[in-house]
Amino acid sequence: MSWTDEKILKLRNLWSEGLTTGEIGKRLDVSKNAVVGKAHRLGLKVRPSPIKRQKKVAAPKKEKKVFTLTDLSSQTCRWPIGDPKHDDFHFCGATVVPGKSYCAEHCAAAYVGSNKPSQQSQQNAQNSR
Ligand SMILES: [Zn+2]
Repeated sequence: MSWTDEKILKLRNLWSEGLTTGEIGKRLDVSKNAVVGKAHRLGLKVRPSPIKRQKKVAAPKKEKKVFTLTDLSSQTCRWPIGDPKHDDFHFCGATVVPGKSYCAEHCAAAYVGSNKPSQQSQQNAQNSR
């Protein structure tokens, strides 16, 4: 049994599509063991199964308490902290100012965000004179 360039190319393609070794063997008319052995020699990465991935997501490391979207209520500050693309992204979670979406600190931050702080402080300084 010999591996032609064409077969190797097909093996790579089928492997990358996520077919099982048994299915790839059928398509290439070789044994499953031949597929496994060749894939190993080619250095093709064995991708984790979807089931294993789900298990990893279901059991995240909880070293410290962070507020995620599911932890939020009308009483918790929903100010986002960190980058949503990163794992450590979470929400403030502090008790909100009544009637507001954020805690006192982040209400202030949200208010400042809609104005230019430098101008405001300058105006305040002028008014106090
Ligand atoms: Zn907050």
